[in-house]
Amino acid sequence: MTILEAHHDPALHAAIRALAAERKAVILAHNYERPEVQDVADYVGDSLGLSREAAATDADVIVFCGVHFMAETAAILSPHKTVLLPDMAAGCSLAATIDADQLRAWKAEHPGAVVVSYVNTTAEVKAESDYCCTSGNAVDVINAIPVEQDILFLPDMFLGAHVRRITGRENIHVWMGECHVHAGIDPEHINRTRSQHPGAEFLIHPECGCATSVVEAVSAGAIAKEGAQILSTEGMIRRPAQSDSDTFIIATEIGILHRLRRENPTKHFIAANDRAQCAYMKVTTLPKVLGALQRMEHRITVPDDIAARARTAIERMVAIGGTPATSPFGPDDPGE
Ligand code: SF4
Repeated sequence: MTILEAHHDPALHAAIRALAAERKAVILAHNYERPEVQDVADYVGDSLGLSREAAATDADVIVFCGVHFMAETAAILSPHKTVLLPDMAAGCSLAATIDADQLRAWKAEHPGAVVVSYVNTTAEVKAESDYCCTSGNAVDVINAIPVEQDILFLPDMFLGAHVRRITGRENIHVWMGECHVHAGIDPEHINRTRSQHPGAEFLIHPECGCATSVVEAVSAGAIAKEGAQILSTEGMIRRPAQSDSDTFIIATEIGILHRLRRENPTKHFIAANDRAQCAYMKVTTLPKVLGALQRMEHRITVPDDIAARARTAIERMVAIGGTPATSPFGPDDPGE
């Protein structure tokens, strides 16, 4: 049995649902979680979608099946709710490339620069930032900053290179961070997989840092644009039903294949590279979800002063929103 197959345990599933009801808890799961964790959740989505659910829920408790920085964002947006992360080992190799001390030192080297942070950062780094952005609105956020203003963009070097190319701005300094998963979704693998399936559509989901290298490779011309689309989670889930194609090559972390197959059972989905797995997303298992609800742990809290400053950067991101401008494909693309 592979990690892409659901490890069904009906008794455990039922015990989690019963305890979640007793605790007035909502279970949120990221698209890259294990299939059986997605199946026990109330809501499955990308980090922005999970943030919105966390902010909107009436539940007293949020069991956050994702990685630590996402649970922190939920705690920032829902300060009066109890946010639980089932396993504290659920980190992020991209977020770990820069901490608040490193960012303060970088800012000191560039006095007056505006700091734009991708959402894959700790709350402390967000608190040191002027704006947050997603892969879907990074270009819009940059375009909202006066052209003469220096920008520090962090921590994803591929997204940084992409926004530099699209905006044509030379005054964007980029932190050289990367996610360990993207190395498995490189242009060579993708071009080989596409040549093996010439009729397949090629779908890119730039959530997290795992596929931003693909976005950059497309905008740099290393991967052909024809037959390719950059899609948000919901766009990706909807696309197969709208398309005449019955085969799709998916460039992102492989966890999303579970939902694609579940919601489009007559279509075929091929991972651009089936080794593209986020180890941090996979540490959360059903027994750990049950344990989190039984012991009400591990509680994720963010100190008030850090939360207040981080919230400002997050709210600026939400205010600017997202448009197709990030896309290397032109105005018809829905972006993230
Ligand atoms: S896929 Fe990469 S960027 Fe996303 S949580 Fe995992 S390590 Fe972090």
